[in-house]
Amino acid sequence: MDDARVAKVRLGRVLAPPARWALWRQGPRVVGYGLVTEAVAVVLALRPVPQAVDRRTLLVLGALLLLGVAQAETGRRVERNQRRVSAGPHINMTSAWTFAGVLLLPPLLLAALVGGLYLHLALRSWYRLPRVPAWRTVNNAAIILLSCHAAQGVLRLTGVEDIRAAITRGGAGAAAVVAAAVTFFVVNALLVLPARHEVGRTPLALFGTWSDNGLELTTLCLGALNALTLVTLPGLTALVLPPVLLLHRTVLVKQLEVAAHRDEKTGLYNAGGWRELAERTLGDARRHAAPFGLLMLDLDHFKQVNDTYGHLAGDAVLHAVAHTITSAVRGRADAVGRFGGEEFVVLLPGLAHPASAAVAERIRNAVSTLTVPVGQLSIKNLSASIGIAVYPTAGTSLQRLLDAADTALYHAKATGRNKVVHVADLV
Ligand code: GH3
Ligand code: MG
Ligand code: MG
Repeated sequence: MDDARVAKVRLGRVLAPPARWALWRQGPRVVGYGLVTEAVAVVLALRPVPQAVDRRTLLVLGALLLLGVAQAETGRRVERNQRRVSAGPHINMTSAWTFAGVLLLPPLLLAALVGGLYLHLALRSWYRLPRVPAWRTVNNAAIILLSCHAAQGVLRLTGVEDIRAAITRGGAGAAAVVAAAVTFFVVNALLVLPARHEVGRTPLALFGTWSDNGLELTTLCLGALNALTLVTLPGLTALVLPPVLLLHRTVLVKQLEVAAHRDEKTGLYNAGGWRELAERTLGDARRHAAPFGLLMLDLDHFKQVNDTYGHLAGDAVLHAVAHTITSAVRGRADAVGRFGGEEFVVLLPGLAHPASAAVAERIRNAVSTLTVPVGQLSIKNLSASIGIAVYPTAGTSLQRLLDAADTALYHAKATGRNKVVHVADLV
């Protein structure tokens, strides 16, 4: 297929007739929230403003669209990789252009800028990524547009019409621009919150890390500088592009770092990531003379699951077991890893013997009552054997502790499976 045809097919999928919209297949809350935010964004975009649109304003819109598209095209690979590896909130750098639009464009042209940039991203970068259906792109664009309107509202409240007016007002003008940027940031963060149940993330995860938020704020700063350059020395506006591209790459580097420590099949730590964390926990435990528990878990007769239901069903069981273990431990404190195959390890900082055994028993019990739906079937009667070693009684190095937990696990297997064995009880 040539490029033009590919673009047409993509456009056809993004602009499907209303009756075929995937939005209608979502829950009533998603549909309701989506339609309300979109309707409000459109109404606000259509509000009348005193000044007429002149040629200069249209040129600004053209320049921002051009820069945004150039950035999205250059950063296409980064963007797609980022969407693939990251489970966190998504930062796509468009605020470098949309926030400049807040400071320079009337509502309708601002809507054209946001719509244009998101349509381009949907067609060129997010196409076919399962986590980015068209209805979500439209809703994200509406949320960005509402954040833009809120920022413009704050500008008007401070009596500053746009960046030109801000320049003439000195310190007060600068403060108004900062207030608009903060408003954009806060409103955007708040508007994403109601969607958290659908995306399956906690409010904290949706707010992102300090560095995610720092990045969004940096992008907004670039947006403000961009607006300033456009009205003072428009010829230098393209200078904003390299910093934005570089910033975009830094996101990916960080996310690849996280991905390198993750097990793709289950989302848990992989062996390398878990060991790194375990060494750190060991260091802390030594310094504070505190205990910690180490659990090693192996599913019982897992080969039979594969033999009976197939490898893909086996993978679904691994995923469900990973979720079961994670739900049975403390979210942030305890580190769950997949050591390979159907063997999992859990680190329980601060927990000594009876407490570690209680957690192990809770996990064993949760696995034994687990039902994993696979197509029309449900896989039940799973069980796991768990070996426990506690620092410092079972060993003072990570390898010693792993060996001790492995010995306990072997004993659990040898004496009937579906049980928890603490290495200290073996002699
Ligand atoms: P035991 O109770 O003694 O542990 O019996 P078992 O059948 O679980 O024995 P073992 O631990 O030796 O077998 C592990 C099986 O796990 C063998 C392999 O086919 C399967 N396996 C390993 N990695 C994966 C994976 O990523 N996906 C799936 N579906 N199966 C895997
Ligand atoms: Mg096994
Ligand atoms: Mg095994």
